[in-house]
Amino acid sequence: MAVHDVRCREVVELVTDFLEGALAVDRRDVFERHLAMCTWCQTYMDQMRATLEVTGRIREDEVPPELVDSLAAAFRLERSGGA
Ligand SMILES: [Zn+2]
Repeated sequence: MAVHDVRCREVVELVTDFLEGALAVDRRDVFERHLAMCTWCQTYMDQMRATLEVTGRIREDEVPPELVDSLAAAFRLERSGGA
């Protein structure tokens, strides 16, 4: 089982917890490992961090539409990539 394999979709779900320091230590570890090798998630993370700095919180309706588009594209890539 790939319990410790974090995918982009999970990073997106966990990023707010991560930035707010609410992520469990074991999840944080796999999260950071994925981030280290995934430039898409690094970009996403940067955007979310910037949003958090400006607004103090991250809300789903504040995610830029173009980011949601690239998100959907990443999910499609993940699915067509198999595994
Ligand atoms: Zn990723």
